[in-house]
Amino acid sequence: MSEPILDTLTTRAVSLIRGASAIVAMTGAGISTESGIPDYRGPGGVWETQAPPTIGDFLVNPETRREFWRRRLSDYPTLVAREPNSGHQALADLERRGTLLATVTQNIDGLHQKAGNSDRRVIELHGNAHQLRCVDCGAVFAAPEIQHRLEAGDPEPVCTACGGILRSGTVLFGDPMPKAALDLSIAAARACDVLLIVGSSLVVNPAARLPEIARRHGASLIVINRTPTPVDDVADVRIQGEAGPVLSNLVRGLDSGE
Ligand code: NAD
Ligand code: ZN
Repeated sequence: MSEPILDTLTTRAVSLIRGASAIVAMTGAGISTESGIPDYRGPGGVWETQAPPTIGDFLVNPETRREFWRRRLSDYPTLVAREPNSGHQALADLERRGTLLATVTQNIDGLHQKAGNSDRRVIELHGNAHQLRCVDCGAVFAAPEIQHRLEAGDPEPVCTACGGILRSGTVLFGDPMPKAALDLSIAAARACDVLLIVGSSLVVNPAARLPEIARRHGASLIVINRTPTPVDDVADVRIQGEAGPVLSNLVRGLDSGE
């Protein structure tokens, strides 16, 4: 394969990544739009079409739960069929090279793991859509098992261990952040020497705070996003563009002589 011709910004990002010994990637919905999963805030995003329920409403209102399960019955097969794109593949490649300490993600689609990032290095701030759990006893259920029950006509699957209400493994409005993931993400931001931010609008905490934590601890910031973000002014490199092509160019650039 011929060597990529790198533009100035990519060359600068490549040199930061080459010089780094502990890179942390931070990803938002933008890394998965090229896999066909819409972001929330963009045009046609879930924000406009179907806002998720609050946990309070979900727990007290049987109709909200039934609506949740109806949507899940129709939407989950589409989500599970989605494949990682070249952006996910580039981050998996970076992890194989040995310097990607962690990938902190706001996504719930599991595409980093599907691309080959190891489970223990992916920190999911908003949980994961491929698991469900009982609100009473905490038992965890794999999504395909629950999908079978929905397809067999069960309108509201309950916990087989205790009969309790099952809920999504993702963070709903009104839920606290998962503490373990939050602590790990802050530790990763403190430990890294490059924070590589991809496809996140950086407007919601804790993702919004991590760049500042990383910077205070001496890390450089690289931001790859389609639209402006609040940290663009302090980023060491800011590349406006599509996550897939930009990231794959960047990781390929690590092998080039430039
Ligand atoms: P967000 O705030 O992280 O915004 C996404 C950002 O990505 C936007 O700034 C957008 O301009 C940018 N973007 C979109 N496509 C891009 C591309 N191809 N290349 C580069 N940048 C691109 O996320 P959100 O959409 O407001 O979603 C809020 C929350 O909802 C997420 O944190 C997540 O928990 C959940 N969500 C998850 C998924 C998923 O798992 N794939 C999808 C939608 C929403
Ligand atoms: Zn239970």
